[in-house]
Amino acid sequence: MNADAKFTRTLVTSALPYANGHIHLGHIAGAYLPADIYVRYLRLKGKPVLYIGGSDEHGVPVTLTALKEGSSPKDVVDRYHEANAEAFADLGISYDLYGRTIWDLHADTTQRFFRALDAGGHIERQEMVLWYSEQSDMYLPDRYVKGTCPRCGYEDANGDECENCGAQYAAEELIEPRANIPGDTSRPILKPSAHWFLKLRDFKDDLKAWLDSHPDWRANVRGIAYGWVDDLRDRCITRDTDWGIPVPVDDPEAQNKRIYVWFDAPIGYVTNTRQWGVEAKDDAAAWETWWKDPSTRLVHFIGKDNIPFHAVIFPAMLMGQGDFIVADNVVGNEYLNILNRMTGKAEKGSKSKGNMISVRDFLTRFSRDALRYYLCAIMPESRDAAFSWDEFLNRYNGELCDVVGNFVHRSLTMTVKNFDGVVPEPGPFDAEDQALLDSLPEQLDGIAQAFDQFRFRLAVERFIEMGRRANQYFDTKQPWVTRKTDRERTATTLYVCCQVVRVLCAAMAPFVPDGAAKLAETLGIEVFVGGPDGGPDSWDAAKTPLPAGTPLQPPVVLFPKLDKDYVAEIAERHARGEAL
Ligand SMILES: [Zn+2]
Repeated sequence: MNADAKFTRTLVTSALPYANGHIHLGHIAGAYLPADIYVRYLRLKGKPVLYIGGSDEHGVPVTLTALKEGSSPKDVVDRYHEANAEAFADLGISYDLYGRTIWDLHADTTQRFFRALDAGGHIERQEMVLWYSEQSDMYLPDRYVKGTCPRCGYEDANGDECENCGAQYAAEELIEPRANIPGDTSRPILKPSAHWFLKLRDFKDDLKAWLDSHPDWRANVRGIAYGWVDDLRDRCITRDTDWGIPVPVDDPEAQNKRIYVWFDAPIGYVTNTRQWGVEAKDDAAAWETWWKDPSTRLVHFIGKDNIPFHAVIFPAMLMGQGDFIVADNVVGNEYLNILNRMTGKAEKGSKSKGNMISVRDFLTRFSRDALRYYLCAIMPESRDAAFSWDEFLNRYNGELCDVVGNFVHRSLTMTVKNFDGVVPEPGPFDAEDQALLDSLPEQLDGIAQAFDQFRFRLAVERFIEMGRRANQYFDTKQPWVTRKTDRERTATTLYVCCQVVRVLCAAMAPFVPDGAAKLAETLGIEVFVGGPDGGPDSWDAAKTPLPAGTPLQPPVVLFPKLDKDYVAEIAERHARGEAL
């Protein structure tokens, strides 16, 4: 558990979202918000940390979208890459670099990976039979062919997997196949095609030893990873398409094929680290420290559908390079569903139901701190969670505003008003003052421990608990009464409150950065200073009391309350399937 002793820097990745649609709240709660919170926490601690993300832009869904809307794959990914990069920025997801898999640099990185695996004997050419449309004169990879699932009978199953029952099967098993191409009414035929396979079994022992050495990972990740490792099969890593990265083999059969999107996408983390080195450090070799030095700690944040790729396949690909590190943790979240107000039941977000909430739409109406707070408070860490408008309102207003925001505001307002805008000189501490002051480092450590264990809900709970305890203290001490009778007592109370506020400011910075920034300005302190090179530890610095006499700015409202009627109106619209 103690990563400090073994590692000197941390490389954090968030799953590359697919550039074929807008980022929605489900994505955010899975792979992005927890990663961003963790990265901001490490930066506050002054730890060297690099946070890499980007768009995943190859694959069949993109070419299908282009085909259906009469545009080009490049048009599709340009549009969604821009939109999603903007949505992440709006939400404060603080990537050091947000890259693209259509970059030439990425083709180079991917082909290097392929060649190294090939040279090590881990790639094998195999003949297989695939569905082929004579009318469209093309093979029908993945979703280009639809049919009836051989396992459950679902009639809209894809060529090699069923979205309904999760089954994977060989192409020829698909029943009643039909081409999923507008205007193509021909009946697909089976035709042989050569493809390249990654021999995952070569890595079985290494994968198992690696999983065995990480017993602290989340149960969901370990369960799925062990399930895969016990039943490893060769995986086809090429497709019949012209949208993707050329297969670097000297074979005429490879001409009309490209590397499978699931092979190239995770390599995007490496490419984007290379690009970061060039842009930020002007050093084309800077990335190697982050991917090859064993004192680098690699942590992947993903949604649960990505677990096999990050806990089995990509690690095998890294192992096959010979000199790359593999992940020290794979933090896989469960799903965030949407509560249906009519039925009171949680539903999966889906385009066809029209119940998905895009980050862009949401942030045109509500603050990012409100969204970040709520999603962190209900984060689907060990089981699915559901977004509910009522709960969004109640938890944000009732916890962040009423508990923490209120305590901070009344403490600072009273201090500024009664003590000339500075932290007052305290008198002697009584037992209650001392107990609260003594508890602050411990309370902050409790939150740090929760972050270190990737237990973000617990961090929020402890943070709110700190606010509750502070409010109790405030109510017991009644400074609004003592200010008329006992100035020294009031000064002591408010001095103690200022120290709590200072600790709250550090504790909130990872998940509600805007509120923390406003508060830091009021207190005249710096937060959020670290980065890839590390920096001073402003997290532990919060344990040092603000000296009496420290000037304070007039306090502002950190977390404006949400209007109940407005939230209800938006919730109604959402329930009717209208765009927000
Ligand atoms: Zn099925």
